[in-house]
Amino acid sequence: MSSICDITPFTLQDFEGLPACIVWFSGCNMRCAYCYNLSIVLDDHTHIEEQAVLDFLDSRRGLLEGVVLCGGEPTRYARLYELCRAIKSKGFAIKLDTNGSNPKMLQRLAPLLDCVALDFKAPGSTFYSITHSHLFKSFEESFCFLLRRKIAFEVRTTYHSKLLSYDDLSQMCRFLAHHGYKAPFYIQNYRPQEFTLRDIGNSEPFDIRAPLKTLRAILEGAIFTLFIGGARTS
Ligand code: SF4
Repeated sequence: MSSICDITPFTLQDFEGLPACIVWFSGCNMRCAYCYNLSIVLDDHTHIEEQAVLDFLDSRRGLLEGVVLCGGEPTRYARLYELCRAIKSKGFAIKLDTNGSNPKMLQRLAPLLDCVALDFKAPGSTFYSITHSHLFKSFEESFCFLLRRKIAFEVRTTYHSKLLSYDDLSQMCRFLAHHGYKAPFYIQNYRPQEFTLRDIGNSEPFDIRAPLKTLRAILEGAIFTLFIGGARTS
């Protein structure tokens, strides 16, 4: 399955400005072409005990306010619910970074989560070619659950020009608008990495002018805000 493999002791960038640590989980049920966390995804990592995480949090009381659960895919960790309960009982807020592939675990965790960052890898038609997984339906179920439960969450996508077309992005915008999604949609340009799961070559950054022509029409009916490479565009 999955295990805890590392702790980043401090970040101000991963939990909406809250001083937080990151707990990393090894293993993933997707194989995204652009993934660069190879040792984590392929579970080639030393493992650390749950108690070590809790001891670490005890040593940071008053210094940290949040814990980010990241991977790999954290929801594959069988004791995630129990771990989240223990983290909450110590007074820390919890953010989950997930690919949305485990809606059942998400539903169980929901009362314990303060926010969620949900990866939207691709529309259904392109999902397999990017992730090498048949998990689009699970992603959709997770997305709809988060919307229904009104849990604070944001959707984000990595854009690589050889993997996602503007038409794919248009479909994704349409999907979000169709479901009434109102929170920001972050499109992050792929940043070149030394090693990735597949040899994907360079990406042309998202062209902020041309696609707006395409996207504007779609965004007309949408209520969400689109960010591209960190820049607010509408
Ligand atoms: S979901 Fe994709 S990008 Fe994220 S850890 Fe798994 S393989 Fe890597």
